[in-house]
Amino acid sequence: MAGLEDNLRAVRARIDAAARASGRDPAEVALLAVSKTWPAADVRALAALGQRAFGENRAQELLAKAAEVGDLDVRWHFVGQLQRNKAAAVARLGAVVHTVDRESLALALDRAGEQAGRPVDVLLQVDLGGAAGATAARGGAAPDDVRVLADLVDRSPGLRLRGLMAVAPRDEDPGPAFDRLAALADRVRADHPEAVELSAGMSGDLEDAIAAGATIVRVGTALFGDRPLPCDREQVSSAT
Ligand SMILES: *Cc1c(COP(=O)(O)O)cnc(C)c1O
Repeated sequence: MAGLEDNLRAVRARIDAAARASGRDPAEVALLAVSKTWPAADVRALAALGQRAFGENRAQELLAKAAEVGDLDVRWHFVGQLQRNKAAAVARLGAVVHTVDRESLALALDRAGEQAGRPVDVLLQVDLGGAAGATAARGGAAPDDVRVLADLVDRSPGLRLRGLMAVAPRDEDPGPAFDRLAALADRVRADHPEAVELSAGMSGDLEDAIAAGATIVRVGTALFGDRPLPCDREQVSSAT
């Protein structure tokens, strides 16, 4: 608990410093606590310290953990690869889905949002390139396909287009990659002004992401510690 409190303070200080360094208001950058692999008790502890947004990358873990802290006023975000048959449950939870990267998933979530009676907030995941095998497994739409996907989401009554998301390529400096993402986000916003969110930056590269304009940073390790399972970037790339 003391550890979590110190970590939360340190991460917030990094966010503040990075925002100020690029002339931005720190209040424009939301912290998403990625609690994957960590118990619901840690979510509860961080929520008691004021943290409101939590992220998971596996639907089953998300649903189980959300049920355990169902009494808390928190918003869940899904940051992993989503199977279409889990779309309805994720929609019912009111989770923000950061990883819409293809038409079939958008259509499944659209139906789920209509059935749930409230549109699903979605971000489009962009593939920023890098070693072919690694990015293919990690997901993300090719940059050239993002605007067509944005139009589809915008036309879907069960979806609300909120912005773009990406994971930095493993084999490249994150700064230029996040700049490409931000330029694409500008083009999407020209057609869809409501797509204001840019979900980019993790424990290791949140400063670069904030410099490029991130409005949501997704932080796991720097808050909770090293994950006990063999994962980190592997977990980012595992499709479940
Ligand atoms: C796990 C994960 C994060 C958090 O990564 P850390 O390096 O632990 O901060 C962010 N985004 C996605 C998509 C993840 O799967």
